[in-house]
Amino acid sequence: MNYFVHESSYIDKNVDIGDGTKIWHFCHVQKGTRIGKQCSLGQNVYISSNVKIGNGVKIQNNVSVYEGVELEDFVFCGPSMVFTNDLTPRSKYPKGAGGYKKTLVKYGASIGANATIVCGNTIGKWAMIASGAVVTKDVPDYAIMAGVPAKQIDWVCECGIPLRGGINCEKCGREYTLVKGQLLEKSK
Ligand SMILES: [Zn+2]
Repeated sequence: MNYFVHESSYIDKNVDIGDGTKIWHFCHVQKGTRIGKQCSLGQNVYISSNVKIGNGVKIQNNVSVYEGVELEDFVFCGPSMVFTNDLTPRSKYPKGAGGYKKTLVKYGASIGANATIVCGNTIGKWAMIASGAVVTKDVPDYAIMAGVPAKQIDWVCECGIPLRGGINCEKCGREYTLVKGQLLEKSK
């Protein structure tokens, strides 16, 4: 085994964990879940059954990734951010796994501390969700979303620098173009 699990954590049967991944204190990973290579799960992280997590994903302390959530490669989940999988839960009328709404977080996206992602939505690649934001709809690639409910306030470069109303990054030199309201990286 080429990954690390702290002795205080529980990994259920039939879980795949990639090389170089580190799972720190007081975590629980449930059955049927796949976690990629070089990931980091901080303290008190819960991963439900049948969840797919890509490579290079960082999950900070106190995050629960419920069934129906998928995280692509290099997603960042800030401390105590919240996923959901049921829009209208009732204790008396549980929907079961078949009733869960899906949430997809695409390649490279970052979710700030204490943000909430309402289920049934997709977060675009390299998007950035501000801390404390509540995401209630799909998020375009490279969008910065803030507030409750979250609204787009800017675009952000792949390198993490806000584009401040422009579409080229002053820091790393990446250039983008806007096509029908979607930001795309210019091919070199
Ligand atoms: Zn940049």
